[in-house]
Amino acid sequence: MSETVLSVRDIESFYGKIQALHGVTLEVRKGQIVALLGSNGAGKTTTLKTISGLVRAAAGEVQLQGKPITSLAAHTIARLGVVHVPEGRHVLKGLSVKENLELGAFTVRDAHVRAERMAHVFELFPRMAERRHQDASLLSGGEQQMLAIGRALMHGPEVLLLDEPSMGLAPKLVTDTMRIVKRLNETGVTILLVEQNARLALRLAHYGYVLENGQVRMQGSGEELRADERIIQAYLGGAE
Ligand code: ATP
Repeated sequence: MSETVLSVRDIESFYGKIQALHGVTLEVRKGQIVALLGSNGAGKTTTLKTISGLVRAAAGEVQLQGKPITSLAAHTIARLGVVHVPEGRHVLKGLSVKENLELGAFTVRDAHVRAERMAHVFELFPRMAERRHQDASLLSGGEQQMLAIGRALMHGPEVLLLDEPSMGLAPKLVTDTMRIVKRLNETGVTILLVEQNARLALRLAHYGYVLENGQVRMQGSGEELRADERIIQAYLGGAE
């Protein structure tokens, strides 16, 4: 079995006095897509934010390739290769597609590496290449999602944390986005994917975790979870 890239052990996180995570433990192995499922407020986003350093863990540990990263600053964690694409895309308006991508690589000193990564992003997303000089705010919702993922790829991620990439997109674009996630994974990117659409996520995922009230309630391979009666009833909208 492949090595563990990201390991999360018993993390507890709070917003003020509200405890959002009550000891979350999960593992992401190299080359995998791992899905993080659960209903609204279960703690999926908070788990990603705690891993990427946007929320401080009050207890527990996050390790990247066996080294603790729990107390590092968010920009340091990103530089080490844990790159978070938050929900809602957040492309920078007033800047072109190319400038948005360049900003994604601000920590990369080697111009040659930056150029190679941009070429790779343009190859993955030909649409971004066509629109490279266009203001990012003029892109459609689906294109902005591609740009947000492209910007994350400019960092050269060891592991990509994707928060609901299909959020707010039309059904066809949701399928396209999932295809992109699969393609990215096939190019070697390890992915921790938060997704409301459990049916789609479990079709792609090698492994999945179901969060409830800030705790892992179920886990298993994508196939096991897809076949689990409790998951089917709670998250897959009954039998297909
Ligand atoms: P969703 O699918 O709705 O995005 P989620 O599983 O990602 O949900 P989180 O956003 O991680 O859930 O929220 C976990 C808990 O923490 C919820 O009870 C939520 O109300 C609370 N919470 C999240 N963000 C904040 C915040 N900024 N301040 C206070 N409480 C928060």
